[in-house]
Amino acid sequence: MSEAVLYVVATPIGNLADISERALKVLRSVDLVAAEDTRHTKQLLMHFVINKPLFSVHDHNEHQRVEKVLAELSAGKSIALVSDAGTPLISDPGFVVVQAVRKAGFPVVPVPGACAMVAALSAAGLPTDRFCFEGFLPAKSSGRKKQLKALERESRTLVFYESPHRVLDSLKDMAEVLGGAREITLARELTKTFETFLSGSLEEVITMVEQDANQRKGEFVLVLAGAKVESDDEEQAIAAEHVLNVLLEELPVKQAAALTAKITGLKKNALYQQALALQVQK
Ligand code: SAM
Repeated sequence: MSEAVLYVVATPIGNLADISERALKVLRSVDLVAAEDTRHTKQLLMHFVINKPLFSVHDHNEHQRVEKVLAELSAGKSIALVSDAGTPLISDPGFVVVQAVRKAGFPVVPVPGACAMVAALSAAGLPTDRFCFEGFLPAKSSGRKKQLKALERESRTLVFYESPHRVLDSLKDMAEVLGGAREITLARELTKTFETFLSGSLEEVITMVEQDANQRKGEFVLVLAGAKVESDDEEQAIAAEHVLNVLLEELPVKQAAALTAKITGLKKNALYQQALALQVQK
């Protein structure tokens, strides 16, 4: 297949039967395979009795490899780009190469297939009409909590990748920042023998993971429900309560209610009653 094309080929995420017919056809016909880990991909190709020259394209050499990829394409060679598992570029190397190949004017052709994020979403039982893929959260708890805080009001379903030695800590940070009642589905070992889905509130899922060490083994996708969207009225009420609380620190109830009414456009009498109730709570 000498036709100066870069194919971006998805490979299985555990179950080898998930390779597509088209992926096999492309892998059999290209001149070269660019792999995240050549030893790993050699094993995969051997399984399908495919023998191709391989070269590495990973996080640490991707910029240098652009030159080689462009030289091979210029010589009319076709290349398949693969990662260790799933779809290249999805929390995997390949972006730098794909961008450079496109800029140079060569065709980049996707050969779709397995992707852990999509597999998890498709079976998690949480809304899929709109979602955000967040990849891996920072390794340190402080960075993780900062990022989660920034996502606090995100109403779309959130999808994260996580490693086994951090999964419990990440779940705990999610509960601390977003509240233990938020719904989550933990998808583990997708397409493999021990595929498991744990669903419930963050608090419930944390307990399940704490009580069973097996639930901390393998590969994970965390599918987290988005924040509940407040209606305009609810948002206004929350904002008004905040203003009232701030003003009540400095002013008597009547004045605080009157000023809050001016700021928010809400009724003074209702705000006065609310201010009285807030004072009682203080
Ligand atoms: N490119 C891959 C894809 O398309 O999903 C993702 C590569 S990323 C480096 C690896 C992470 O994906 C793992 O740490 C895990 O979070 C997730 N993952 C990959 N395979 C998985 C599987 N079989 N089950 C659950 N999660 C998986």
